Amino acid sequence: MSNLEDLYREIILDHYRSPRNRGELESPPALRVEGFNPLCGDEIVVYLDVTNGTLSNIKIAGTGCSISQSSASLMSAAVKGKTLEEVHKIISRFKQLMTITEGTLEDGSEPEPIDLASMGELAALAGVVKFPVRIKCATLSWNTLVQGLDEIPA
Ligand code: ZN
Repeated sequence: MSNLEDLYREIILDHYRSPRNRGELESPPALRVEGFNPLCGDEIVVYLDVTNGTLSNIKIAGTGCSISQSSASLMSAAVKGKTLEEVHKIISRFKQLMTITEGTLEDGSEPEPIDLASMGELAALAGVVKFPVRIKCATLSWNTLVQGLDEIPA
């Protein structure tokens, strides 16, 4: 397990040091949504371009801790170019990842396995659930994305 945790740590550090899809999009036409996590001081700005039901482009700006910024980077890489339907599926799988182990680790047991292999690099964030105070850091960009998607006219 520790090898896997090392790998996850590497992925998170890599996305923190070299964030993917970092920048801004002209808004409008792009949708601009801001998120803030007062517990940690994380700020995320998500820019979304949706064309014909596809999230054709996404850019991330903002500042914050390594978890919030690497989660935003991982998210942007996971959802860019996907249809909105796929994006919603990825979001719900990620939310499952962030909630499924809550409260199950008090006895030191391993969390219920979910299909991490299907989640690619997002699986790296699975370790965050062991630190409940950081979950809000990890979910900030995702909640901001959801907020943006909700603003897209059907
Ligand atoms: Zn944070």
